[in-house]
Amino acid sequence: MGERYDEVRIDGRMGEGGGQIVRSSLSLAAVCGRPLRVDHVRAKRKKDGLLRQHLTAVKAVATVCGGRVAGAELRSTALTLVPGAPRGGTFEFAVGTAGSAVLVCQTVLPVLLAADRPSTVVFEGGTHNPMSPPFGFFERIYLPALHEMGVRAEARFERAGFFPAGGGRFVLEVEPGLPSAPFERMEKDGDPELEAWALSAHLPDAIGTRELAVVRRAFDLGRDQARNLRLPSPGPGNVVAIELRCGAAVERVTAFGRRRRPAEEVAEDAIEQARAWIESEAPVGEHLADQLILPMAFAGGCFRCGVWSPHAETHVAVVRAFLGDAALAVAHGSDGTVVSAPGVRSVGSLGD
Ligand code: ATP
Repeated sequence: MGERYDEVRIDGRMGEGGGQIVRSSLSLAAVCGRPLRVDHVRAKRKKDGLLRQHLTAVKAVATVCGGRVAGAELRSTALTLVPGAPRGGTFEFAVGTAGSAVLVCQTVLPVLLAADRPSTVVFEGGTHNPMSPPFGFFERIYLPALHEMGVRAEARFERAGFFPAGGGRFVLEVEPGLPSAPFERMEKDGDPELEAWALSAHLPDAIGTRELAVVRRAFDLGRDQARNLRLPSPGPGNVVAIELRCGAAVERVTAFGRRRRPAEEVAEDAIEQARAWIESEAPVGEHLADQLILPMAFAGGCFRCGVWSPHAETHVAVVRAFLGDAALAVAHGSDGTVVSAPGVRSVGSLGD
């Protein structure tokens, strides 16, 4: 399949110059059946090249599409993939460190959606990493957005992986079928409904209790709207998550506890992030905006976000390298940034 088309060459120094360029290029190469070459991998990061999380994603994509890869080594700065046809089945992908298993999952998911049959996939690694989508965000914000695009995939949480121990685990069940139902998220109306959690493992209950006292006070929440939960996990860890809903507009912000960071400060961090979303008139938050770009390029639709990050801008450039400039339109205005996509009708015709 892949060799029918010209190789897509991606310069890892483009835009933000980070890991997302590699991950989305891999997903798109496998889905579109286009051979891929990435040079200068993560060139703008202090420690450049493939780290464990990216390498696991490379191997996962190559496994599912039966592809041939070169440069799949730790710290490699050049990578090629000649994809085959994606095949569903039973897989297990382990990062082997606290690197984000959720990012590995987001990379391989489009390939599983392009496969010939359903898949069951176990992911191991970090599930609650700063700078990556925490599992709760993936399960409750990202996956429901994909469901609206017609995707059939469910995640089952088994245990949390925090830095530095890692060892988190979840299972993804996927039915084939690329995103195809247009997605729309342009408005945010009404007062937000809030729910909060302190999630901890191997730490005293008092930490979550103190965090929730601050969150309850800030938003006038009752006990049933702010819960202190223990998660099974190989190592210690703590986060405060606040979920916000204004009709169909949803967001989940997460603040991370760490050694010597007072519980109250973790709670204030989450509160500040929650307030920023409440005050924004746009329905889509910074991270969701970034993560909607690839699936919505297939599904079609439009959304409005308040914060347009360099990360999102770079993501648009990667998607356009595979699907063409017309795949996504981005318009900046006084009330935020609107991203729209006509959608891809037939993947078989891509690159023709
Ligand atoms: P590097 O930039 O070092 O290569 P990386 O490979 O981890 O790191 P990035 O390119 O930074 O990857 O991508 C991180 C991803 O995590 C982005 O899609 C971003 O939207 C998402 N993300 C980061 N923080 C959050 C958060 N709090 N909630 C949801 N998603 C998040």
